[in-house]
Amino acid sequence: MKKKQFRTESKKLLDMMINSIYTHKEIFLRELISNASDAIDKRYFRSLTDPDSGLNRDEYEIFISADEEKRILKISDNGCGMTADELENNLGTIAKSGSLDFKSENAAENVDIIGQFGVGFYSAFMVAEKVTVVSKVYGAEKAFKWESEGVDGYTLEECDKEAVGTEITLYIKPDTEEEDYCEFLEPYSIQRLVKKYSDYIHYPIRMDFETTKPVEGGKEGETEKVTERRTLNSITPLWKKPAAEVTEEEYNNFYTSKFMDYEPPVKVMHYKQEGAVEYTALLYIPSHAPFDYYSKSYEKGLQLYSSGVMIMDRCAEVLPDYFSFVKGLIDSSDISLNISRETLQQDHQLRTIAKAVEKKIKSELLKLLETDREKYETFYKAFGSQLKFGVYSDYGTHKELLQDLIMFTSSNEMKYTTLKEYVSRMPEAQKSIYYACGDSAEKALKLPQAQAVIAKGYEVLLLTEDVDEFTLQTMMNYEEKKFVNVSTDELDLATEEETKKLKEENESGKELLDFIKESVGGLNSVKFSNTLGGHPAALSSEGGMSIEMARVLSKMPDAGEGLKASLVLEINSEHAVTSKIKELFSQDKDKCAKYCKLLYAQARLLSGLEIENAEELSGLITELMV
Ligand code: ADP
Repeated sequence: MKKKQFRTESKKLLDMMINSIYTHKEIFLRELISNASDAIDKRYFRSLTDPDSGLNRDEYEIFISADEEKRILKISDNGCGMTADELENNLGTIAKSGSLDFKSENAAENVDIIGQFGVGFYSAFMVAEKVTVVSKVYGAEKAFKWESEGVDGYTLEECDKEAVGTEITLYIKPDTEEEDYCEFLEPYSIQRLVKKYSDYIHYPIRMDFETTKPVEGGKEGETEKVTERRTLNSITPLWKKPAAEVTEEEYNNFYTSKFMDYEPPVKVMHYKQEGAVEYTALLYIPSHAPFDYYSKSYEKGLQLYSSGVMIMDRCAEVLPDYFSFVKGLIDSSDISLNISRETLQQDHQLRTIAKAVEKKIKSELLKLLETDREKYETFYKAFGSQLKFGVYSDYGTHKELLQDLIMFTSSNEMKYTTLKEYVSRMPEAQKSIYYACGDSAEKALKLPQAQAVIAKGYEVLLLTEDVDEFTLQTMMNYEEKKFVNVSTDELDLATEEETKKLKEENESGKELLDFIKESVGGLNSVKFSNTLGGHPAALSSEGGMSIEMARVLSKMPDAGEGLKASLVLEINSEHAVTSKIKELFSQDKDKCAKYCKLLYAQARLLSGLEIENAEELSGLITELMV
């Protein structure tokens, strides 16, 4: 029979499986059982609308048999089965190929991919040299057999099979010095693996055990060999067990095997809600963002169960966008089995559940923040941006909900701080919450105006992400304290007396200031300042648009021309450079203009802005040097 070829990426994955040095080869069993269970789910679900196609609920099972001599392991299910086309499409290619990027095939990466994504069906090739899949769907006359010995390809042919479902036969590899594959044929070790990884599967996983027992009515000590059929898993879905009876390991195993993550979550929430709408939730907060989390391809959602039967794999409606990182499931007998994507949004029960879930996630995150700072920061590093987006989006509708969950690096020890913590440390005289923006916290900290605020004994929040300032601007204030960007005309550090003095200086120096504005160009105004510490000059902005916001907005694809900050060049009235400029202004206007340009260039650099005319600047500096 002619062999068919695997698609390229499947072939690579398969090759990796076959040559795998992955130490947890045993997970192949979990993957195959999980596929079998999904297939039964599908058949059960279809039978709700087409009763003839299904079985009685208690007839569904996954059956394992092992022949240690022939080295054959079989896993069969009476699920939905696959047609010839499905066998070809589902097993000839890998569903998750899109998420796998096979850049290199070195061993370390090999291990990672298996751990990270779970590789489903192909993991069988970690332990088997040949795999046969015989499958039949409801209503079909014939069954089909798919067979492969690895990368060379596979064959597909018609065959006989009586019952609807799938039977997978693994021809287990010979034992080697490093690896005892025979472990996967030994009934008790199979039982152990099922318990470990698949205990929660809500269909029975059965296997026959050969034992000896006393002959009934026989002589003393007389025994006979009997075959005993045992159910290996406890069937009760994990989330249906009382939380007190579930170990952390069980929660984590369930999570890593079901939600395609290789690291344990930072937080598990398992609870039963009583009341108007009753449901059980098992929710997880991952410890790191999935590789596609901040891209369009990421889909949020929880699994939806109706009394133990999965009715939807990813229900987006129960999770708000700002908590889209949460994984897990909701099981409720109040959700109709026949709920469809179209009726989801109108569904009253579901909306009630969504509201309660949102509240729960928030309170659990707050609790984590209070009780385990380190874990919360791990979480925040991964998903903090999403929370900040949440504050900013929908015109700030959710700011109250999220404001105590967000954090920023603070000049106070350069650590994360919540707004509540910041406010609690504010000296009495401090009226506003100050922040500075930069590419990094260190850069923001070095802004002359930030230094001036710190010199006053106040803390400065150091904003480094594009979304940050928009988040704070959306909130406007926190506990009635206004957010103030230190690089804007809103900075209000000066005392009344200082303000008065500065005003006079600005008035008397008007001619010079106008001259500077004229010479530099592109500025909204130029003024003397007393909040620049040791720096000669700095940039700030007037009006609502800060320098940072304009920079972020101008990067947007549909940025228009109007997105400019009104720039103000602030000149330190007490700096020696200012005396020099004043002197030149009366003696050599030409040179004075050049100095002003230099000063402006310096200020731009400090603010993290580009130099508009590098050639001119280079000329000016050279002139200074020679
Ligand atoms: P995944 O299960 O993550 O989609 P797999 O490689 O494990 O990826 O399986 C690919 C597909 O093959 C499944 O999505 C399913 O449609 C089909 N499949 C696998 N095992 C079975 C089975 N026992 N019965 C029916 N279909 C199956």
